[in-house]
Amino acid sequence: MADGADRGPAAGGRAPAQAPERTMWCDERFDFQAAFLQCLAKHVPNIYSAEMDPLVEKQEEMVQAAILYPLECYLFGEDPDIFLEKLQQSGTSQLCGKVFKGGETTYSCRDCAVDPTCVLCIDCFQNSIHKNHRYKMHSSTGGGFCDCGDTEAWKAGPLCTKHEPGASSSPKENSECQLNEEIMEHSRRVFPSVIKYIVDMLIWEEEKELPVELTIREKVDSYYCVLFNDEHHSYDHVIYSLQRALGCELGEAQLHTTAIDKEGRRAVKAGHYASCQEAKEEIKRHSENVSQRPLHVEVLHADVMAHQKFALRLGSWLNKLMSYSSDFRQIFCQICLKEEAGSEKPCFISKLMLWDARLHKGARKVLHELIFSSFFMEMEYKKLFAVEFVKYYKALQKEYISDDHDRVLSVTALSVQMFTVPTLARHLIEEQNVITTITETLLEVLPEYLDKNDKFNFQGYSQDKLNRVYSVIYDLRYILVSKPTVWTDRLRERFLEGFVSFLRILTCMQGMEEIKRQIGQHIEVDPDWEAAIAIQMQLKNILLMFQEWCACDEELLLRSYRECHKAVMKCSTNGRSREKTVFHLCGHTLESRPYRVSADPVSIHLPLSRTLAGLHVRLSKTGAISRLHEFVSPEEFQVELLVEYPLRCLVLVAQVAAEMWRRNGLSLISQVFYYQDVKCREEMYDKDIIMLQIGASLMDPNQFLLLILQRYELVDAFKKMKPTKDQDLIKQYNVLIEEMLQILIYVVGERYVPGISNVTKEDVIMREIIHLLCIEPMAHSAITKSLPENENNETGLENVIDKVATFKKPGVSGHGVYELKGECLKEFNMFFYHYTKTQHSKAEHTQKKRRKQENRDEALPPPPPPDFSPAFSNVVKILNCDVMMHILRTLLQRAVELETHLWTEAMIQMVLHLLSLGLLEEKQQLQKSPEEEVTFDFYHKATRMGSSALNAVNVLMLLEKLKSVPQLEAQKDTVNWILQMFDMVKRLREKSSLATVGATSGSEATKGDESTQDKEKAERKRKAEAARLHRQKIMAQMSALQRNFIETHKLLYENTLEAQGKDDAIMEEESTSSAVDYSRIALGPRRGPSVTEKEVLTCILCQEEQEVKLESAAMVLSACVQKSTALTQNRSRILELSGDTLDPLFMHPDLPCGTHTGSCGHVMHAACWQKYFEAIQLNFRQRLHVEQIFDLENGEYLCPLCKSLCNTVIPIVPLQAQKINSEDAEAVAQILSLARWLEIVTVRISGYSVKNTKGEKQSLPPFTNKGMGNSTLEFHSILSFGVQSSAKYSSSIREMLILFATTIYRVGLKVAPNEADSRIPMMTWSTCAFTIQCIENLLETEGKPLFGSLQNRQHSGLKALVQFAAAQRSTSPQLLIQKHLIRLLGVLLPNFKGEDTPSLLEVDMFHILVGAVLSFPSLYWEDAVDLQPSSVSSAYNHLYLFHLTTLAHIMQIVISSAAESPTVHSSDNSEEAQSAQLFCREVCQYTSGCFSQDIPGWLVWDCVKKGIMPYLRCAALFFHYLLGVSPPEELLQVSEEGQFKALCSYLSLPTNLFLLFHEYRDTVNPLLQRWCADPVVLSCLKGKSIAIRYPRKRNHLIELPEDYSCLLNQASHFRCPRSSDDEQKHPVLCLFCGAMLCSQNTCCQEMVNGEELGACTSHALQCGAGVCMFLKIRECKVVLIEGKTRGCLYPAPYLDEYGETDPGLKRGNPLHLCQERYRKLHLLWQQHCIVEEIARSQETNQIFFGFNWQLL
Ligand SMILES: [Zn+2]
Ligand SMILES: [Zn+2]
Ligand SMILES: [Zn+2]
Ligand SMILES: [Zn+2]
Ligand SMILES: [Zn+2]
Ligand SMILES: [Zn+2]
Ligand SMILES: [Zn+2]
Repeated sequence: MADGADRGPAAGGRAPAQAPERTMWCDERFDFQAAFLQCLAKHVPNIYSAEMDPLVEKQEEMVQAAILYPLECYLFGEDPDIFLEKLQQSGTSQLCGKVFKGGETTYSCRDCAVDPTCVLCIDCFQNSIHKNHRYKMHSSTGGGFCDCGDTEAWKAGPLCTKHEPGASSSPKENSECQLNEEIMEHSRRVFPSVIKYIVDMLIWEEEKELPVELTIREKVDSYYCVLFNDEHHSYDHVIYSLQRALGCELGEAQLHTTAIDKEGRRAVKAGHYASCQEAKEEIKRHSENVSQRPLHVEVLHADVMAHQKFALRLGSWLNKLMSYSSDFRQIFCQICLKEEAGSEKPCFISKLMLWDARLHKGARKVLHELIFSSFFMEMEYKKLFAVEFVKYYKALQKEYISDDHDRVLSVTALSVQMFTVPTLARHLIEEQNVITTITETLLEVLPEYLDKNDKFNFQGYSQDKLNRVYSVIYDLRYILVSKPTVWTDRLRERFLEGFVSFLRILTCMQGMEEIKRQIGQHIEVDPDWEAAIAIQMQLKNILLMFQEWCACDEELLLRSYRECHKAVMKCSTNGRSREKTVFHLCGHTLESRPYRVSADPVSIHLPLSRTLAGLHVRLSKTGAISRLHEFVSPEEFQVELLVEYPLRCLVLVAQVAAEMWRRNGLSLISQVFYYQDVKCREEMYDKDIIMLQIGASLMDPNQFLLLILQRYELVDAFKKMKPTKDQDLIKQYNVLIEEMLQILIYVVGERYVPGISNVTKEDVIMREIIHLLCIEPMAHSAITKSLPENENNETGLENVIDKVATFKKPGVSGHGVYELKGECLKEFNMFFYHYTKTQHSKAEHTQKKRRKQENRDEALPPPPPPDFSPAFSNVVKILNCDVMMHILRTLLQRAVELETHLWTEAMIQMVLHLLSLGLLEEKQQLQKSPEEEVTFDFYHKATRMGSSALNAVNVLMLLEKLKSVPQLEAQKDTVNWILQMFDMVKRLREKSSLATVGATSGSEATKGDESTQDKEKAERKRKAEAARLHRQKIMAQMSALQRNFIETHKLLYENTLEAQGKDDAIMEEESTSSAVDYSRIALGPRRGPSVTEKEVLTCILCQEEQEVKLESAAMVLSACVQKSTALTQNRSRILELSGDTLDPLFMHPDLPCGTHTGSCGHVMHAACWQKYFEAIQLNFRQRLHVEQIFDLENGEYLCPLCKSLCNTVIPIVPLQAQKINSEDAEAVAQILSLARWLEIVTVRISGYSVKNTKGEKQSLPPFTNKGMGNSTLEFHSILSFGVQSSAKYSSSIREMLILFATTIYRVGLKVAPNEADSRIPMMTWSTCAFTIQCIENLLETEGKPLFGSLQNRQHSGLKALVQFAAAQRSTSPQLLIQKHLIRLLGVLLPNFKGEDTPSLLEVDMFHILVGAVLSFPSLYWEDAVDLQPSSVSSAYNHLYLFHLTTLAHIMQIVISSAAESPTVHSSDNSEEAQSAQLFCREVCQYTSGCFSQDIPGWLVWDCVKKGIMPYLRCAALFFHYLLGVSPPEELLQVSEEGQFKALCSYLSLPTNLFLLFHEYRDTVNPLLQRWCADPVVLSCLKGKSIAIRYPRKRNHLIELPEDYSCLLNQASHFRCPRSSDDEQKHPVLCLFCGAMLCSQNTCCQEMVNGEELGACTSHALQCGAGVCMFLKIRECKVVLIEGKTRGCLYPAPYLDEYGETDPGLKRGNPLHLCQERYRKLHLLWQQHCIVEEIARSQETNQIFFGFNWQLL
């Protein structure tokens, strides 16, 4: 808003005419303030008087002339334009400071940015070093700021080349023009008044009055009723309220609403106070309802309104001024920060900040921009501003929380700009105690959610309000994001103070939202759980950062540990009232207070306990743990109490798994899910496990296990079981035991945490990735999603991925994946604690399968874990303690004794895992230290008897027995592995007592063992494998039977189709080898025979077979007819939207828009299809409410088999095999020369014209027979060369012929169906020709041979289409066909030329050929009998028609290439070149020199040879499908030269095409002469008009840049052609033509046929005849649309380096064009499959129904 009119030439009105005021201000003695206000008082109300209908440009002109210009003159002391020009040239700031609008792309660098909030604008990015780094692109939400130039934001490359200090490399101060003292002095006088005025006016609350200084004129009763914007009322609601309240038109209400949304407020009514007041009440009344407050409306005096408006204008003026000079900025900031001496009042800028939430949107924007351009551009003042900001932080946040605007519009959103600057953050912590301020603010804004115990409870919370609270939490994150490197005492104290304050928040969360198990009845309402979990998510990284900060310094860590411990203890009081109870197990006793998770309240929110756990591992890591007793005395420590709450939480999870909490509803399930999910687990689940490890390391192992047993409520389960019949209870026990064993495995085995063992963060991530990839190969984004993000949104994936995985590139679809490296497989731990249950079983399955494939045993023992660090070394003791042995023995015994219901396989697996862990531990210890020092005696304990009873057993014995338990067959290998381990440990013990032989021999021995065992195993495996294969086969058969009906038949059908295709090929091959004498010529007397085979097709609906015959019931092919611009040569041509008056007989050579017929190749009986179609129609009518993706009215349906979108069917008409009797042909050849043939045709046609015009006015031009007088010829001569009776079609085929022809007509012309319309045959021929051209084009671009490479569906579609087109004639009146034929011939034969006959250069010759060939038989029609030419006659007809059109086409090519100038010189003097030269001479002569004779013959020949190729190829396709004559073999291959010769031979042409002119010299010369005389031809030759060049250009999708950021750059420079506001735009790129459009915006909507269409939809109508392909640039998505109602999204052809697309730029990785995928899109277009793709996508994603494609 600020710029534009300021300095542009538009401001021409600002002549220095207002000299008096200028001089007045110049006067030093004068009071500037008073003069300034006086001036404003005088002008402002006048300038802004017409508020209802403002003339913005006029207002701006007046402001410039009356106020700003004089003001600037005074300020600068010279002409402002000149002065500012000088200032601008003298240099710019080093900071970019560009403020982002919503939707603009921002760039961050993952290598160099200090944190992800440091971003660059696109210009700076393109000019920075980060362009070649690992950057990220994102869409701004608005309100951000380019950090280019901020040295604190970037580790490297803080400046782009644009903002780098100039070549002079002068220090920063000098790079900007220093203002002279006089100007500074003036600024100090001017700014205070200006700022004061702005502040005063913005916070002005009086509705009716102005400050006295501004009140000069008498008050008039002129008021406005002003409506304000808010985020609660919808657009439509506001429009409705306005219409009702003011009685205005919809358009006016819309206008108001748009303006309100944009500016924030608007006068909707002007008038006297009373009437405005009345309007205000009306609007309030109409906008209020049960759920919503009324709209904010005020009545303002016109003068108040005017001054407020001008205040904003002045704000923009200042904003602009700020960009010129650092001195201006500094003076401005000083004044804004100046506090009145002795006054408590806030300074100007603080006043504005505090008032922010009360300002309207437009005012806020100006204010924020001003802050950006002044304070944020000067580091020193940014700091001072930040201090002010923090001073009022609480008040500002509270205002924001009750604000009715989004955060981007709040001044609180500026926090990120200050808090993330490391030095600033440190300063604010030290000086302003900002951490405490923020946490206190949090506590102050949340009290309404505190319950009576001072715990949070978010039941019935408001989402909007909580979202606002999150922004405070975010501020905490910003402050903590960069850890200080240097600690001062003050910083330490302040931080600790903040930490303690933060602990108070955690205290309110510890144990919040307790739940109690529901017994008997299901809970009535699921409680709200999302808010608490969401806060937990928000806090996760903050908690981690606090822990990191604490760990910076030993002293700090210990002190914060003490504080945290104190807080935990304070919260751990409940249950203390209960009496302690005692319980015994295998000689050990536990004394504890009774508590049961299943009966007492429990909470999953324990942030205090978890923070303590986090600090504890850091103590262990840094070694500070040795001093812990100095801070927390052992008596105070109370480890049992610390463990208690996390343990309860884990038990809760177990009980939920055991379905004990079923009646508590879904909310609990969700909470448990998040508890373990990657988004939360680091500060929930993981920390609870750590707390148990802390417990295990500090408690007596037996006590610890007893506590666990008790909390899992499993004490009874491990005593002698009383037999019970309660299956549910047994099942419940079993699940609980499994869950407990799992936790024990984790406590002992999970050591990948820095501090718990000596691992690095990298090791941890690697282990996570290994375990993910053990499940299956994964895409980069999938891995990223499964890893926790740190405060910088990084997972650390890239640093390690290459160490553990290899990348596999994607194909044309799908994405790239990472595969685990072989050497990492040994790290696989089946009981990895982050596996979900499904992941666990998937991984187990994958790994077992792999080992089986490698022919190895299936044992998956745990990998050796890293050693615990000293503080945790005692944890392993729980493995070999008595209680553990008891647990293990009991479970194994149950398995051995076959008490089936008391154990599960999973349970035994875990027991085995624990055994393995114990043995591994002992082995590792033995290998490290001498035997006598190893106290860990797992082996010993496991081989000891469990009791003194006679039948007592030990673990080892039980294991041996386990092998014979049939249910545990799958665990056998693991059992064996453990037995070997026992053996090894035993040997190690023995060996080390003998001597230190070294541990290796032991392992070698087992290796030997392994190999013999492996052999045995392999044998067993082979047998098993054979059995398995057999089983598999049977299973496969079974499942095949089970598949549903259509599926089975689909397979069957596809098989037959394939087989057919093969047969075709074979037959063709055979015919080539066996019948070499077959002529491969399609035209003329030497025409080869038709190769036809008996066609037996299967109906996909009834599955019955039928042979295709003329007289049988019709079979049809599903088909889709659509308009297409795929071949257009001229996209700027305006297409007719409706074909009511269109004459489609002639196609323009530009091929602007044709009708394409495609098919999916699926055959049905016509009757079956009709039944099917009626059924869906009926179905549709019965359920009207269901939206259909296809338009039944227009005959659309989905192919019953492949679900392609179809809108009609093609009848399958069999090819009539024809063979020429060579003798007859020879005989005819003697007589029927071209000249003769022409005469006969002429006589026939003129005869008709005489006959048909008898009695009426002649419709044909008078036919002259001059020069062709031959008395022997008469009307019937044409019949004498052979006729036969016309084919007779069955009525059902005829019916289908009519139906299909009508569809082509209806769709192709977009008209209502009319079976009798004379244009039906024209459309038939046209779609036939156009479809062939499309296919030819496609084959060429794909580089495929002309014949033999079509897809099945294309082949059968084309075959049916051509045969249909030949047969269609029989359903139309022959007279009509003749009429059309005569018009077609008129182009070639000037005798028939009528008034509407286009010139030779205005038609596509292939269309003429197809039309003429297909309509020609109508000449054989006689009144009574329907005859058609015999084979021989046809052969000649085809030949001559083809020769004629070819001659004409050569002529077209020669004329259009007349302007061609030779680029290379050639001395080609071939025969062809010479003939060409001769031909040119003739043309030159006939055009009286217009055609230049100087064009060398070789060049003309070259042009013709190249230009005629597509035409010849199309003709070959056409005649082949029409006649069934096999093409020469050369056409089954791709070869440039061979192809031309083969085409000529197939089409009976001399390879020297100019010989045609020579051979037919006498006949053709008159034609040539008349063609040359055509005015269009002459004008073209004279260069007055341009003819299309041949070969036509092949259309491609537009070229896209390789780097996606180039596109984003283009989009950022995109300006909407219709509006100039700064609103967010959605630039969309048309991939057909490259047009950039302004999508989804009212400004660019267009009225088409009375309907409002979006820019894309209306563009598509012209560019793609309704079908189009766009790229949404900001979202990186392709959009396909068809018509007004259909569309779909498609992945853009851009991939990141991991082979993945990024719709919506969510991940933001650099993207590069993938040529293969773009090619696929190109083919989608050229194959006319866009419509099909849309239908398919809509079928699968019903989601897009809701989208209004019309307005795209
Ligand atoms: Zn920038
Ligand atoms: Zn820059
Ligand atoms: Zn970088
Ligand atoms: Zn059927
Ligand atoms: Zn189909
Ligand atoms: Zn376009
Ligand atoms: Zn627009």
